[in-house]
Amino acid sequence: MAQEESRSISENTKWGVQKRFQQGKAHVPTTYFLGYTEDEDGNIIIDEKQAKVVKRIYWEVLEGKGTPTIAKELMKDGIRTARNKKTWTSDSVYKILRNEKYKGDCLAQKTVTVDFLTHERVRNKEHQPQYYIRNHHPAIISEEDWEKVQEELNRRSKMFRDPDNKYNMAYSGAAPFSNKLFCGECGRPVTRRRLTTHCGEDSAPVKFTAWHCRVASKRDPNFKDCKCSYVWEEELERAFMKLLFDIKKGKAKLIEDVELSIEEASLTEEEDRRLNELGTQIDRITDKITAMAARSTGSNETIYEATMRHLIYEQEILQMEYDGLSENKKESEYLEENLKILIEVLENIKGPEEDFDPDILTKVIEKGIVYNKWRVEFQLKCGVSYEVDARRRPQRSKKAE
Ligand SMILES: [Zn+2]
Repeated sequence: MAQEESRSISENTKWGVQKRFQQGKAHVPTTYFLGYTEDEDGNIIIDEKQAKVVKRIYWEVLEGKGTPTIAKELMKDGIRTARNKKTWTSDSVYKILRNEKYKGDCLAQKTVTVDFLTHERVRNKEHQPQYYIRNHHPAIISEEDWEKVQEELNRRSKMFRDPDNKYNMAYSGAAPFSNKLFCGECGRPVTRRRLTTHCGEDSAPVKFTAWHCRVASKRDPNFKDCKCSYVWEEELERAFMKLLFDIKKGKAKLIEDVELSIEEASLTEEEDRRLNELGTQIDRITDKITAMAARSTGSNETIYEATMRHLIYEQEILQMEYDGLSENKKESEYLEENLKILIEVLENIKGPEEDFDPDILTKVIEKGIVYNKWRVEFQLKCGVSYEVDARRRPQRSKKAE
């Protein structure tokens, strides 16, 4: 958010000052917002049990853990998400880490309506001013820790994007696993390497391509704490094609699993109606704020500020609920679309030893997590994950001697 676009409203507004402005109680969607709940008056308050989970997530990032590892461990410990779901993804952990609400602030007016017929909303970039409110509700993470976590995430994302393409070695043909593999032990990117091994009876050097965690392969100057093993590219490819065959054999189970995740994400009729209603309400309040912002403060600056703050507060509450619902709606549509694609792909898989096809990989894989001992988890775009064994198999036959 550019500085000039934002308008900081009252730096030191204390939470307690914020009383309900409008008649009745607005629904506070703390269901989409781990760590908070509401009191009898509808004020946002900290839910101590959930706040512990939020603190744990922030703390573990500062300890050097990656978001996939954090997600895996939360599931192992049976911890539920804000919507009381058992499944944690690297992405859902990441969103918690990036959310300014955990330091007590909130950024209002994140979306504006662009299409009045479909009511489709887009992220507010330059269309309208954004309002950043400090001390909007009680903080779970201190400003200082929150900033530290942002720095760490920024540093990791720079690594992930690999701006100078240093780690994506030039090979004939594309490297289909590029930017898709992450280390399950430390969460950092897994990149491609050329290695030499002295196997075979005569100990002749054999060159091969492998994928290895950047930290474990000692190519990250800042970290040395990972010992994850590398996997042969050949074995990754083999394991992937075999997985497709196995999925095809158990197609009924796959469809059942995906439909379950679609059902979890999709909106009920009532939620769908609520989503439309929220769009209209947000528009109305946005108009009020815009009109108010264009007006001069007049003689009573205090009332002006208070009114503005309340409007923004109301808007933010509606917006949070809107974002939560619309995210679920989009997710269910995405899963459905990708289930169709996967089923099409499976039609053409004939056996377990099919030649590797990089196009198929791109079509169906969201990402892969490489764990120690050559275990690889393939996360499919249709929302299901499979763990496979990508251990180097003994050579079946020696080439002509
Ligand atoms: Zn690692």
